[in-house]
This record gives sequence, structure tokens and C-alpha cells, in this order.
Amino acid sequence: MGENRHLDSYKPPASSNEEKLYFLTYGRIRRRAFFLRTLLVFSILIIANLIMENYFNQEYYRWQNIGNGVVRNQGFLFWYNVYSIFNYFVLTILLVIFFIVQSTKRIHDVNKSGWYVLVPFYNIILWLSEGDKGQNDYGLDPKPYKVEKYYDNTLYQCSKCNHEQVRRGMKECPNCNTKLSW
Ligand SMILES: [Zn+2]
Repeated sequence: MGENRHLDSYKPPASSNEEKLYFLTYGRIRRRAFFLRTLLVFSILIIANLIMENYFNQEYYRWQNIGNGVVRNQGFLFWYNVYSIFNYFVLTILLVIFFIVQSTKRIHDVNKSGWYVLVPFYNIILWLSEGDKGQNDYGLDPKPYKVEKYYDNTLYQCSKCNHEQVRRGMKECPNCNTKLSW
């Protein structure tokens, strides 16, 4: 299992963020990601409830009026119940879990235990605090770094054996193994 560790073949990681999956608390997120995901949660909740109010509940009352208080449309009743369970139960629980996970990742960004999500007001302060610069106990800095590609392919000559395949940064000459100093 020989790993190629030449400078020429080095590929920088795609992202400096170690965050794993949206429903796992592992890793850190910065304020921007936290706000965007919170916005997403509220948008989905609002849209789902607008559909509930403006379509399903309206239709329910309409069928009630036609049926003198009883909804006799079984097909509609089925989908009304399915959507009600989805809207008030499944979706709400999923979004609450999602939000708690994002809050935890955000609190990790200031190097605090995710359990502080349960402390009222203090959790809000932590969500709004600027994340740690660089690595902390919960992973790498999620702020993207500028990756500078720097290759010096200039060939130098070994002063001992005159070998001409020496590159800057090499610790020793590949031909005579003389320690090189730069
Ligand atoms: Zn040499």
C-alpha cells in the first residue's frame, strides 16, 4: 500500500470543513450556514402550513358544508389525514431534529459542548458568536481557505555529486543521499 506522497501529486482537500451529513452533530458550521439552514427550516414549515390552511383545511370546511357537518368524500378524507400527519407530526419532528443538529454544529464552532443547545438565551448567544479561527476540539475551521498551489519545478544541481535532478525542498540528494540545506 505505497502511498504517493510527492509534492507534484498532492491534491488539496475539496473542503476544509469536516462536517458530516446534515442529520449528524459531527463537525462545525459557520454563522452563514447556520442562518441559511434555519431559514430553510422556517421556509419549509411556512409553505407546508400554507398548503394545510389554504388547501386542505379549506376543502375540509367546504365538504363539511356540503355534507351538513359530515365530510362524505372518502378519497379527500384519506389525503387530508395523510397530509395532516405529515404536516403536524412527521415534518415538524424532522425539522426540529434538523434544527437542533445545526444548532449543535454551530455551538461546536465556538468550541463548546453541543448540550448548551438546551440552555435558553445562552444558546442564542453561542449561535451568534463568531467561530474559532483555525482548528478546535470539534474539527477544522469551516471557513474555506484559499489554497495556493505552489510548485517549484526548477531543477538544481547537487553540490557533492553534481546530480541534476534535485528540487527545492528535497531533504537529501536522490543520488548520493547528502543532506541538503536550503
Ligand atoms: Zn548528490
